[in-house]
Amino acid sequence: MLKAHQGAEVDIIDRLPTPFGLVRSGVAPDHPETKIVTNQFSRVPQNERCSFFGNVSIGSSVSLSELREMYHVVVLAYGAESDRILGIPGEDLAGTHSAREFVWWYNGHPDCRNLAPDLKSTDTAVILGQGNVALDVARILLRPTMELATTDISSHALGALEESRIRKVYLVGRRGPVQAACTAKELREVLGIKDLYIHIQEADLLKTPTDEEELKNSRIQRRVYELLSKAAVSGHSHPSSGQRELHFVFFRKPDRFIDSDDRSGHIAGVRVEKTMLKESAGAGKQIAVGTGQFEDLECGLVLKSIGYKSIPVDGLPFDHHKGIVPNARGRVLSNTSDLTQLEEGLYVCGWLKRGPTGIIATNLYCAEETIASINEDIEKGVLASTSNMPKPGREGLLQLLETIHRTENYCSKDERIVLFGDGHHEMTRKEHIQYLKQWMTSEERLKNLNKLSDLAVKHYNEKSNSKYEFVKFVKATVLPHRGFLYHITFEAKEKDAVDGQSITFQAKVYDGRKLWDTEPDRFLDSDDRSGHVADVLFEKTMLKVTPTLCGKAN
Ligand SMILES: Cc1cc2nc3c(=O)[nH]c(=O)nc-3n(C[C@H](O)[C@H](O)[C@H](O)COP(=O)(O)OP(=O)(O)OC[C@H]3O[C@@H](n4cnc5c(N)ncnc54)[C@H](O)[C@@H]3O)c2cc1C
Repeated sequence: MLKAHQGAEVDIIDRLPTPFGLVRSGVAPDHPETKIVTNQFSRVPQNERCSFFGNVSIGSSVSLSELREMYHVVVLAYGAESDRILGIPGEDLAGTHSAREFVWWYNGHPDCRNLAPDLKSTDTAVILGQGNVALDVARILLRPTMELATTDISSHALGALEESRIRKVYLVGRRGPVQAACTAKELREVLGIKDLYIHIQEADLLKTPTDEEELKNSRIQRRVYELLSKAAVSGHSHPSSGQRELHFVFFRKPDRFIDSDDRSGHIAGVRVEKTMLKESAGAGKQIAVGTGQFEDLECGLVLKSIGYKSIPVDGLPFDHHKGIVPNARGRVLSNTSDLTQLEEGLYVCGWLKRGPTGIIATNLYCAEETIASINEDIEKGVLASTSNMPKPGREGLLQLLETIHRTENYCSKDERIVLFGDGHHEMTRKEHIQYLKQWMTSEERLKNLNKLSDLAVKHYNEKSNSKYEFVKFVKATVLPHRGFLYHITFEAKEKDAVDGQSITFQAKVYDGRKLWDTEPDRFLDSDDRSGHVADVLFEKTMLKVTPTLCGKAN
């Protein structure tokens, strides 16, 4: 958008204080090369027409209709943050989690920081699903922690994994090795874990003619099948004592979760039903059907990796069957079945548009398609009715978020948050506000606020081609709603002014990177660990300074 429209201003809103979505909270910590893409993303808000607003949630901080009133174009890209469910008995027993929660936990996502999966009272975990997310989860459970320690895994997860008793992991799939939904790279990685015993039933590798045809049509499936076949015959027939084990369990579907006798309400195993493939649908479409034969897999931990699910916000058309926002090349449709009924100015992108599949690069093409639709609509004048009228945009959003109502809303939430700045603090939101107030008055901080004011003057000079110099800091408030917006009042005077009178300035300084998270080093470089927030503000690109001249001091 920024490239295509030189006049456009773009505000990125995220419910978390940090940007990058699943690249940060999904991609596995031992895949740092994948996360390099964040360097590219970070360049976007360096554009002075772009801002990042963290801690602003669509649906609670701001409604969709409010956003649509404030902006000419709204693009929804809030992903898929819920889970598909199996709908079988015992799904809520303690010791069962979705893979999403587990992944968020090891990646330090604030929502799952306190998940505390029990890795101590059992030596066996069952992972339901055999896609790449399932393989990520298996790898994190089985990989030597010494290797994980060199990654950016969250420290709470590393500590728990170091003490983990999990030795045996079952990866359960409804269909066979020909249909395994993972890719070769991820499979090779898990098969290559140091000193890991791999078990695959050789009988499961037998292929039907339909399987053969399926393999002929897909190079990825061929590679996966070859890797599994090789793993089935290489290695020892039994694990050595204490060796970690990974069991690929094909042709099994979960039937129920089994409650423990001695720890009521806690998982003790999964009853699975053997399946066979119904070939009638043809190659690539074979489905698994139950055979009526059951067996139990004993375990104390279950991670369900059966897919993510998007959730609608108020006022958003939603296709509940497909779990996506109905759209035509990114244009939101008012109603699933009618391609002509469009929601003016409303677009969608990413997993919310296509469903929870595809890698990071897939979203790039997806975004290009949505942007092309926006461009076409602008050119065709579809948005003309609104674009000729100014809309409040960023200022409107800031005003809205500043209202007392929103602040109260913020205070009333009792959830705990983790704040970084001066070391590590965990606190409720109320305590957080208190903390921010104190933070603002400490001497050390005042020094930094002086620097911040000085920076604001320089920005103002650059923008307005004037020559003010900072005189003194007056006061500052932090908008607790997001924790990142500073309203600073300070005095400055014109450099060569004869009367030398000071003028009061107010600057809004927005920092999208100050973290409320457990892992500041996850995407900030070492300079940021100093704990001096103002220094971070100086160095970080997401800093926004909007100084406004507001009158002469007395
Ligand atoms: C476990 C896992 C591992 C993966 N590993 C890889 C990999 O190695 N390589 C690869 O290429 N791809 C990988 N992917 C896929 C990749 O992460 C996704 O394709 C991509 O992140 C989807 O982008 P998105 O923008 O649609 O959603 P997301 O990345 O989920 O971004 C959605 C954003 O919206 C925010 N949000 C949610 N609700 C709200 C709200 N109400 N208000 C405001 N903001 C909101 C979220 O905080 C988040 O920042 C992985 C996915 C998962 C789940």
